[in-house]
Amino acid sequence: MTSMNKTRHDTNDHGSVESWLVSAGRDRRPGSPLNVPPIPASNFVLGEGRAYSRDDGTPSWEALEEIVGGLEGGSSVAFASGMAGIAAIFDQLSAGSVVALPDDCYQGVAGLAQAGQRRGRWTLHRVAVADTARWVELCGVADLIWLESPSNPLLTVGDLDTICAAPRKRGAILGVDNTFATPLNQRPLTLGADVSVQSVTNQRPLTLGADVSVQSVTKFIGGHSDLLGGVVTVRDANLLAMLRQSRELTGATPGALETFLAVRGARTLALRLERAQHSAMTLAERLARHPNVALTRYPGLASHSTHEAARRQLKGFGTIISFDVRGDSAAADSVCGGLRLIQHATSLGAVESTIERRAIIPGQEHLPPTLLRLSVGIEAVEDLWADLDQALRLGP
Ligand SMILES: *Cc1c(COP(=O)(O)O)cnc(C)c1O
Repeated sequence: MTSMNKTRHDTNDHGSVESWLVSAGRDRRPGSPLNVPPIPASNFVLGEGRAYSRDDGTPSWEALEEIVGGLEGGSSVAFASGMAGIAAIFDQLSAGSVVALPDDCYQGVAGLAQAGQRRGRWTLHRVAVADTARWVELCGVADLIWLESPSNPLLTVGDLDTICAAPRKRGAILGVDNTFATPLNQRPLTLGADVSVQSVTNQRPLTLGADVSVQSVTKFIGGHSDLLGGVVTVRDANLLAMLRQSRELTGATPGALETFLAVRGARTLALRLERAQHSAMTLAERLARHPNVALTRYPGLASHSTHEAARRQLKGFGTIISFDVRGDSAAADSVCGGLRLIQHATSLGAVESTIERRAIIPGQEHLPPTLLRLSVGIEAVEDLWADLDQALRLGP
């Protein structure tokens, strides 16, 4: 990709991201264990330091926060799940706020936003991910601008550079769900920085990047389908303090064991992602030509609706492919049932490839009934292709 993308993604403030992932969050004092151990303690002997885990945390949260904060370019707060972190951000809104949300996004976030609207906590505007003009317009009026790019499951890439540089209402929060991209492919807190240089010359207010970036650690950072976790990263000290307080007061605290496992997963994130997204590109190209596939969505394909934005903004195109099986929902179900290597399971971002038909998920009935979302893992790509090809040829 271009050299501009290289400087934006290949290094953080600490050198290369690959080395950071392996080295960050360790206690380097002589005699310390190389890996921060999980400490399953609710309370500690009073005197110095920690007293109670919900308030004061455990060492393994802090290691995870240090690792992800360095990747995203901000200060991180670890939560019990991605949704716990996202709920803590929505919780910052005062009564009568305006929220802008993508029309295609994680169904849990849509459910949270709709529930809040029903209770009169805020008004909700749903916006097409690629409708940049509408996003820019809403930046001037919304109190929370919530973006997800690439979106789940249609994989539409929003023009985050432009949206993150648009003038925002005073006190507004612009958040990006960065789960699908991971901080290795996209750093929302730094996006828009290039555009806003120009906005200074145009006498527009200077805004540099998103205020918040969210990872569901459950997915790529954990990477082994064995934990739930979330991390929220911000640049503003006030917001950081509010999120920590929210975690403490709502009890949305991550487990010591889960964060230990998440740190272990993070050590191999760069390797796993590189391998899986290389395979995803190969599989997407082949699926796009398969006679039993009607449509293949992958940001790396030139045919993808927002391929240009993806090329500009993302270092890599990710590991998720959404494709429509030719025929009806029964045909798509029989593909899932006919797979032998790829697991028929929800969720994504793990070492094992998983697939599911998304229209069966409550709140996702608007999706094409034959859409299968494939999360490509680290198996041998030819084995994955052989499995997909045989299942696609079985027929309903
Ligand atoms: C899974 C996911 C979430 C929610 O994360 P949990 O850890 O399951 O709470 C949010 N956003 C996206 C894009 C996700 O894939």
